[in-house]
Amino acid sequence: MTASTEVTCAVCGEAAEESASALCGECDRPFHLNQRNDVIGKDCGDVWVDEQFLSLRFACFTCLPPDRRPSGRGEATASGQGEPPVGEKH
Ligand SMILES: [Zn+2]
Ligand SMILES: [Zn+2]
Repeated sequence: MTASTEVTCAVCGEAAEESASALCGECDRPFHLNQRNDVIGKDCGDVWVDEQFLSLRFACFTCLPPDRRPSGRGEATASGQGEPPVGEKH
């Protein structure tokens, strides 16, 4: 018996605790979002403050392309992006 509710992350497909996830404002699906600074968690989306409505907005990485993310939180996009797959030649 577990007290915590688990949801399935829409981005990576793994289980996420409800307290460590958020609902995407685009697709309305849950995704991993570490909302605590004192705990190392997984981020499969981003959260930012909407300046127009002054409210928190959530979006999973499926709905949020890397170049449209308002912050690079927890992402290492400096390298490893756009690299062609390594093909083995014989
Ligand atoms: Zn995830
Ligand atoms: Zn989404």
